[in-house]
Amino acid sequence: DPRDGLAPYIISPSAHPPSIVLKETPTSVFIRDAFPKALVHALLLPRDPEKTMLHPFEAFKDEGFLAQVRADAEELKGLVARELRRKICGRGTVAGGGGVNWGAEVRVGVHAGPSMNHLHVHVISREGFSDRVKKRVHYSALLPHPDPNSFNTAFFVPLDELPLRGDDPRWEHHERARLLKMDYTCWRCGRGFKNSFVGIKQHIAEEFVEWKKALLEA
Ligand code: 5GP
Ligand code: ZN
Repeated sequence: DPRDGLAPYIISPSAHPPSIVLKETPTSVFIRDAFPKALVHALLLPRDPEKTMLHPFEAFKDEGFLAQVRADAEELKGLVARELRRKICGRGTVAGGGGVNWGAEVRVGVHAGPSMNHLHVHVISREGFSDRVKKRVHYSALLPHPDPNSFNTAFFVPLDELPLRGDDPRWEHHERARLLKMDYTCWRCGRGFKNSFVGIKQHIAEEFVEWKKALLEA
């Protein structure tokens, strides 16, 4: 089953090159997403065999487990933030970026309806610029996509918003499907693009340039 594609990283992390498996901790495996949907895109795979086949909303009902994953996610977020800084500012002492809160440019969360079976947390730079973004669900799934009628619902659910409340509409499949079909809005300026994938993709490319410029000037 192609949906089991994350299993080998959990079963034998050391069988993969360090360019893919970034780090193992006793509780998690950190990997690079093979189809990055932003400049830097990593996944945290919890190793707990009791949790790995659960939907994230079910798995993170367990507050002790959630706390432990949050701690690991903080560590991975640090790695991702460092790589982001390097990618934007370059290496070396004069490279800059010292005035930027790089962690604030990185989002940590799960998809309300994951496509891969094994429990994973996305740790991804927030600009969403990548040539791997090819289908409309890629933007719908990864960009913050707030429902204007309900400020708290989006397909990407930050780890900070878990455990999900029992009455949250995202427990329902039809609500997840609805979120994936909503109009596009820009993560940075809020401009709307109706359902034009070409429109949002072009705009995200323009915002990428502006975002980088602002980070370099900060
Ligand atoms: P989901 O939509 O299930 O939350 O996200 C699954 C993620 O896993 C996607 O971002 C996808 O690009 C990534 N992915 C799918 N297959 C593989 C794989 O074999 N290796 C790695 N490293 N990432 C994968
Ligand atoms: Zn914009």
